[in-house]
Amino acid sequence: MNRYDEISSRLNSLKKDMGASTLIAVSKYHTIEDITFAHQAGQLDFGESRVQDLLNKAEHFSAENITDLSWHFIGRLQSNKINMLAKVPLLKFIHSIDSLKLLDALLKREDNFHQVEKIGVFLQINTSGEEEKGGIRSIEDLRTGIELLNSSNSKVFTLAGLMTIGRIRTNNFEEDARFSFNELRELRNQLEIPELDLSMGMSRDFKIAIEYGSSYVRVGSAIFA
Ligand SMILES: *Cc1c(COP(=O)(O)O)cnc(C)c1O
Repeated sequence: MNRYDEISSRLNSLKKDMGASTLIAVSKYHTIEDITFAHQAGQLDFGESRVQDLLNKAEHFSAENITDLSWHFIGRLQSNKINMLAKVPLLKFIHSIDSLKLLDALLKREDNFHQVEKIGVFLQINTSGEEEKGGIRSIEDLRTGIELLNSSNSKVFTLAGLMTIGRIRTNNFEEDARFSFNELRELRNQLEIPELDLSMGMSRDFKIAIEYGSSYVRVGSAIFA
């Protein structure tokens, strides 16, 4: 099978499982050629986890006048990269605002962002308790973050929802994924903001995430590896 056929058949079989969830093709570590194949196969949402890579790739497609793409930043964001992120054409979502400090830094730099549409922000929640992983850890901090975003009356950013990553090092990823995804859904219930989207699920656990009502699944290796 050639590379185009490989990517397009993987995308087609993934799409059958999506239900109401939107598939984000995580193209990190993969080439512009692979992204082009996925786009030719009809994929429009792409995720990247490094700001510089995202900028390079988004600028490439922008220069080609390809304007039907949506870019999702899904990686750990350092404050000193916010101004670079601001330059990304067709940046639609930031999935990984993992602290109140980072949210504050982002809001303070909103004047650098000139995208036509508002950028949806997901607050990343640490549902697995892993120390090394980023993420907001309490509902009090989450409420503070939502209040910060809402009261900023930002012209650039809008609250899109909540994001989480299932436990990474685990002997039972299915059980741990269920725990994390259920936690995220419960948090939304506790907040009583049903319109919040949930960004959860990766290659190995996206089917479970969809069972728990994921709005966006972030799938990389199952498409591009
Ligand atoms: C890399 C990455 C993904 C995709 O992971 P795969 O296992 O390749 O599907 C999803 N979400 C985040 C935050 C990532 O960094």
